Amino acid sequence: MQDYLFHFIDGAWQNAAGSARSIVDDAATAAAIGLVAHAEAAEVDRAVMAARAAFPAWSASTPAHRAGFLRAIADALEARGEALAQAISREVGMPLKLSRRIQVDAPVAAWRQTAGIGEGMRFEEEVGHSLVTQEAAGVVAAITPWNYPLHQITAKLAAALMAGCTVVLKPSELAPAAAQALGEAVAQAQLPPGVVNIVFGAADSGQALVEHRGVDMVSFTGSTEVGRRIAALAGAQLKRVALELGGKSASVAMPGADAERVVRHALASCLLNSGQTCSAITRLLVPQADYGRYRALLAAAAPAFVTGDPALPSTRVGPLVSARQRERVLAIIRAAEDEGLDLVAGGSQATPPGAGHFVAPTVFGQVAATAALAREEVFGPVLAVLTYADEDDAVQQANGAGYGLAAAVWAESPEEGLRLARRLRAGQVDVNGAPFNPAAPFGGFGLSGIGREGGRYGIDEYLEPRAIQLPR
Ligand code: NAD
Repeated sequence: MQDYLFHFIDGAWQNAAGSARSIVDDAATAAAIGLVAHAEAAEVDRAVMAARAAFPAWSASTPAHRAGFLRAIADALEARGEALAQAISREVGMPLKLSRRIQVDAPVAAWRQTAGIGEGMRFEEEVGHSLVTQEAAGVVAAITPWNYPLHQITAKLAAALMAGCTVVLKPSELAPAAAQALGEAVAQAQLPPGVVNIVFGAADSGQALVEHRGVDMVSFTGSTEVGRRIAALAGAQLKRVALELGGKSASVAMPGADAERVVRHALASCLLNSGQTCSAITRLLVPQADYGRYRALLAAAAPAFVTGDPALPSTRVGPLVSARQRERVLAIIRAAEDEGLDLVAGGSQATPPGAGHFVAPTVFGQVAATAALAREEVFGPVLAVLTYADEDDAVQQANGAGYGLAAAVWAESPEEGLRLARRLRAGQVDVNGAPFNPAAPFGGFGLSGIGREGGRYGIDEYLEPRAIQLPR
């Protein structure tokens, strides 16, 4: 058992006071592997007050000074990389070989990249007779989910620290290992006490943090439902919010697209991390006339996504994070089966490989744009295939789910793909399989949230411009 019965406040680990606990599961076996304490209001208060006390000196320091600490944190996290990749793989269910690369190496690189971008930014400029200075927004409450725990912590903290903010982090109770590693890295990097504080816990601790009067800004990643609640609580006190929420992202295959590549990409994106990726492509839109061809390709390609023990190198799809999540996803699959949707692969009867929280990779075809499966986020390994009549119909369906986090377009030429990409209301649109770019903005239109993370855009989120008018 690895228990998390402490908090990191004002530069030191402190034993948790309260008795409320969450259980951490091994996703592949369903065995309990740890307990997480829930921070009480008094602990949240101490963390916020430490962040407030640290704010004046940290926000007044130079970007180069802060960048040095970000790089030291990256080094300390890197040194813990293998143990952390294993812990996250157990908590979340992502296959270990992917966990090393995606859950650890990529966020470590992002700490360094954010340091470089921040150092190169101009925090002052002259606009006519005004001197416009970029000021740190203040004390930031960062609340993160479990699916990419170190990535989400990094996207918030590296940017907020680079901007000169101080932080209280409340990580997900389902995947606490990354936050503990971060606390150790912060201590090893000798950040001034109070610049980063970590309170463990669930919704109760998170809410106490959002409502604390000493917090200037709330940066939240998680479900749209909780995001709405947090925005309302923050709005009552007119705090700034940044919200990275859910998605129902569409991949649009135009006539003339390379259907085999489209199918490979759609399955890989949808099934990455067992579908527990906010930007996962979970709707594939294909021309009506091509449905039979796409159906056959999907049925043939799905078995390559071998589901099983995340520790085995042959595994491409691991279990879901929790029993609750598995039940929720299976209920959605059963409802789609009951509706008579065309089951192309997987399904509720497909045999799961073990006692853990497994769901077979599942593809449904002929899904109507109005069906629940075409509109609601599943957060599991389920792809919905829809058909469209013409380009206007494809655009309307792609933009019609209310969310707008990511999208993909596939066309005969990049120019045609770009033309279609310009019509899609999503924060990131990939043309013909273009890769992820960590320096580009990431975030959502509509129900997918408010604000952006990534690169310079992520740092901007934590800055307040101040115009100083100078006498002419
Ligand atoms: P969640 O909304 O249940 O929880 C997220 C975090 O909020 C956790 O730390 C949780 O303890 C905390 N929380 C819950 N209720 C709270 C409250 N009332 N006040 C304050 N804090 C509260 O989400 P989850 O299940 O951890 O993550 C899955 C969801 O996150 C999915 O909907 C997914 O799409 C979304 N997500 C979005 C992005 C993005 O960048 N847009 C990235 C990853 C995940």
